[in-house]
Amino acid sequence: MDTDDLSLPVFQSGSVWLVGAGPGDPGLLTLHAVNGLKQADVVVYDALVGGAILDLARPDCERIYAGKRGGKPSPVQADISKRLVRLAQAGKRVLRLKGGDPFVFGRGGEEALALVAAGVPFRIIPGISAGIGGLAYAGIPVTHRDTNSTVTFVTGHGVGGSVPDGIDWAALAKGAPVIVLYMALKHIAAIAGALMQHGRAAGEAVAVVSQATLPEQVILETTLGRCAQDIAAAGIEPPCIVVVGEVVRLRAGLDWQGLAEGRILDPNPLGLPRRQETG
Ligand code: SAH
Repeated sequence: MDTDDLSLPVFQSGSVWLVGAGPGDPGLLTLHAVNGLKQADVVVYDALVGGAILDLARPDCERIYAGKRGGKPSPVQADISKRLVRLAQAGKRVLRLKGGDPFVFGRGGEEALALVAAGVPFRIIPGISAGIGGLAYAGIPVTHRDTNSTVTFVTGHGVGGSVPDGIDWAALAKGAPVIVLYMALKHIAAIAGALMQHGRAAGEAVAVVSQATLPEQVILETTLGRCAQDIAAAGIEPPCIVVVGEVVRLRAGLDWQGLAEGRILDPNPLGLPRRQETG
């Protein structure tokens, strides 16, 4: 079947589609995202959205950059929401394009509520979040039956640019076997320190994935005790996902990009006795 046969929705004039662009690799866009890009009159995009994805928009589509300057989200955010409303009220088909998934640490909810308040029709198109898809590109599953039945997504960046105060690090350290951190680079020393202070081992596995899914992707495997210094020594730059927990050890078996480059993968990366399948 051709994708044209899927009867993907028509983008109505005067509406806004809030679209997740995924972590970077254009191949991770959804069909709904591509369908929206082909129809949009204007794309309002964030800093993390790459040129190859924007180029899927019509040549005559207006492109508006709405990247945020770190630490000053509030006034800028209100401006972005107002702009979306104004463009829709002017009769445009407005595609608001955000990195990853619009509802994961992306302020998509705030923008959608502004549209609701203004009576602007909208559609939400989810995307692959960096904390899931980015880690998959590094060969790290966010859950695995032998290691964890829960996963916790955490932002390492508060409203004012500090470590968010609302986080109960003691509870996280105790109850979250796998912690996926967004925007954590700046405060990684404080975050790792808080987790260790509340009982996590200094030797616990940590992976840092920078520019995940892109050709510039860099992966650092380290530990909670060493991550801050290793990140600094390796010169790792944002955007980065940091993951803490046993799942990092699965990379020795699941690094599929490494495999393509000749890495020998270990089919039993956790060193477990063979499982008896019980069905
Ligand atoms: N809505 C996005 C997250 C926005 S917050 C999502 O669902 O992925 C921005 C943070 O996302 C970055 O600071 C970084 O932690 C993470 N991020 C986004 N794209 C990334 C990428 N390609 N590689 C690594 N981290 C990424």
